[in-house]
Amino acid sequence: MPAYRGRFAPSPTGALHLGSAAAAIFCAAAAKQAGGALVLRMEDIDRPRVVPGAAEAILDDLAWLGLRWDESTDLGGPFAPYVQSERLARYEAALDDLAARGLVYYCDCSRAEIARAASAPHAGEEGPRYPGTCRPFGMQKRDFRRPPAVRLAVPDDDRALVTVHDRVLGTYTEHVGDVTGDFVLRRGDGVFAYQLAVVVDDVHMQITDVVRGGDLASSSARQILLGNLLHGTPLGSTLGASGRLAAPFAPNPTFAHVPLLVADDGSRLAKRDKLMALRDHRAAGSDPRALVRAIARAYGHDLRDAEAPLEALAETLDWSRLPRESVRVSTILAHA
Ligand code: GLU
Repeated sequence: MPAYRGRFAPSPTGALHLGSAAAAIFCAAAAKQAGGALVLRMEDIDRPRVVPGAAEAILDDLAWLGLRWDESTDLGGPFAPYVQSERLARYEAALDDLAARGLVYYCDCSRAEIARAASAPHAGEEGPRYPGTCRPFGMQKRDFRRPPAVRLAVPDDDRALVTVHDRVLGTYTEHVGDVTGDFVLRRGDGVFAYQLAVVVDDVHMQITDVVRGGDLASSSARQILLGNLLHGTPLGSTLGASGRLAAPFAPNPTFAHVPLLVADDGSRLAKRDKLMALRDHRAAGSDPRALVRAIARAYGHDLRDAEAPLEALAETLDWSRLPRESVRVSTILAHA
């Protein structure tokens, strides 16, 4: 296995937009720079949000940009299948393993109840920290008021104190229990949570480096914690006070969160905004190389008129040149 294994993991919930394209381009350039492997994984388990045909359209758009994979839904590879909806047994097994160790519990709290019970208002994307209301009941079946979610009982000890290495945001330490609290691993409607599926897959696919959009930065600490709990000890064993035993591979990837694109007034972009979707650029007859150069430029890498911009970006990629804050989409559109 190469020392560097990166992955791009889109969700087929709509057309590929410029923000995801930026993350994909840096993901590919980083793998190329490291001489590593690049994996494409389709994250389609949130069935209610999946748009028919979107997975194929996303693959087409990424190919149009010039991205090539070493392992993918189309090519297969040693860790096939690369589609999450065909990997559900793995998520189930991970949940069973955590359950056998008393690390999960049923929760039938509603969003409104959680918001009311939260000690402090929390304006972040994650919603309020879950106060642990249902934790005392464990996996005991009771008279649920609604189909229950399954939450991770975040350890109260230092295992929840996680250090994240992020090439863009730097190195920081976070206590998952203090920040997000016990988070959901399977929703009440039976859908495995993104956090669980991503970790199970990244560990199984031996991913060493995660390059993705900045909106997911707040997930890193939870994902490292989950990876440690699932794979820091042999499956099915109890975590000892002595800490981690030999893992099948180090489950702590290095992250790089590519800052988000925003509108000129700083507001969030909607996928329907003009020229946000890659397919609009294709339909307008744009040159994909010009678009790659424009994206690279907006993120601190002037490739001039390089004929092979992805190669040029791989040669010059320097994470310290990326902005730490969001990027205005007009800086891309002005040059595309
Ligand atoms: N599937 C996720 C999304 O499209 C990304 C997962 C990841 O990169 O960790 O938002």
